[in-house]
Amino acid sequence: MNYTSTRDGEVRRSAAHAILQGLSSEGGLFVPDAFPALDSLDELSQLPYTERAVRILGQFLTDFPQDLLRSCVRAAYAPEKFGGPNPAPITSLSGDRFLLELWHGPTCAFKDMALQLLPHLMTASESLAGDGRKIVILTATSGDTGKAALEGFRDVPGIRILVFYPRDGVSPMQKRQMATQEGGNVSVCAIDGNFDDAQSAVKSIFTDAALAERLEQAGMRFSSANSINWGRLAPQIVYYVSAYCDLLAEGKLRPGQALNVCVPTGNFGNLLAAYYAKKMGLPLGRLICASNRNRILTDFIRTGVYDRNRDFYTTISPSMDILISSNLERLLYSLSGEDCQAVSGWYRQLAETGRFQVGDAVRKKLSAEFWGGYCDDGATRAAIRDAFRQERYLCDPHTAVAVKVCREYREETGDHAPVLIASTASPYKFGMSVLEALEQPLPESEYEGLRALEALSGMEAPAPLKALEGKEVRFSGSVPRDGIKEAVLRELIG
Ligand SMILES: *Cc1c(COP(=O)(O)O)cnc(C)c1O
Repeated sequence: MNYTSTRDGEVRRSAAHAILQGLSSEGGLFVPDAFPALDSLDELSQLPYTERAVRILGQFLTDFPQDLLRSCVRAAYAPEKFGGPNPAPITSLSGDRFLLELWHGPTCAFKDMALQLLPHLMTASESLAGDGRKIVILTATSGDTGKAALEGFRDVPGIRILVFYPRDGVSPMQKRQMATQEGGNVSVCAIDGNFDDAQSAVKSIFTDAALAERLEQAGMRFSSANSINWGRLAPQIVYYVSAYCDLLAEGKLRPGQALNVCVPTGNFGNLLAAYYAKKMGLPLGRLICASNRNRILTDFIRTGVYDRNRDFYTTISPSMDILISSNLERLLYSLSGEDCQAVSGWYRQLAETGRFQVGDAVRKKLSAEFWGGYCDDGATRAAIRDAFRQERYLCDPHTAVAVKVCREYREETGDHAPVLIASTASPYKFGMSVLEALEQPLPESEYEGLRALEALSGMEAPAPLKALEGKEVRFSGSVPRDGIKEAVLRELIG
């Protein structure tokens, strides 16, 4: 299988190349040139998570020998990293709602599902298709990607990683996690700006030919750990298939029964993976896109107009505070019948005017497959409170947005089909917001917050979060929003 670009149909790359390069040189995203059909779900249901992953990933990473892929997958999802043999367990709520918990990895957010695997895929890609240059992972983060990427790539030989996060746009625990990061190949820097500023700066570095040449002379190349990298998306397809298999095996779904999916969405990587799983034949129903007050995707799904000329809000679900949702480009490529001219046109308009509008054909397909909803912080807090009081389930604020939007979807459409809701972070990672939602007194520090939440829920906080308390802060610098390129050069070339 080859990978082409959403903006240039002439591009052909192997999976290893696409993973090494991250972003296509004209700014498009790599997409597979075909979607393989899933193996039989009966058969996949008999297998453990890691073997399901080897099967599914093997269909996309066709240039990876199976044994190599298996060793990558086993190292990534080792039971000691994810608290057991199934890295993505399901908790049932009332009313045929199933929460797919994607946060049992080392950094307590769903990004671990892909970012524990990506470093192994990257190293393998270098051995399959590389040229011996050192890989520099450049990452913009709205909070969770940065930490997950740092943890995944730390001390991986031949790789250097630089992370930029919005100084005032991440939770206290997220900031702590990044500022105390260990490892000899890591750098972390705050920027004065929001996630979109960081992501745009990082993308412009990727497409800067002069800079690429300077790096090449210094024996280095850039790659990406953001969900623009195909190596981030492919592992996310696996857990939707695996969840369906688990629900089948437990008798909670009948074979072939439609399962709706509801995902708290930011950069659209997680929900896009569900769409891709559906394209492969997984019996998924409506794909529900849940946003916070930054409701650009809700508006887009409802009107076909993508318009980023609007205020950017900082919310209690910071990993979704995004107005430029990168992976939407892959969806538009698919919905437009792989029309890279159209996609290039829309993204040119977006760059020039901050807005584009898709035609009726795309809009029809969009609203047939997707449903969009949003909620503000007040409604998010109420959803956290209701889930805890009614179901004894402690939701983080991102997951709570999805729970709330899912309820609204059912009320508005009357569609009560079973639904899989992505639970994307441990509630302890956003402990202060959760305590506030539960109308508890707010303690002085985020660590006291952890203990207060433990006492309230009777569920122990994840060890990696508790361990932060004793760790030394290693990174406290920040740069202006237009200073990322200089900062990168300083770090790499001196
Ligand atoms: C990244 C993140 C999201 C958004 O996921 P996308 O793939 O960017 O849409 C939602 N919740 C949490 C906790 C996250 O870390």
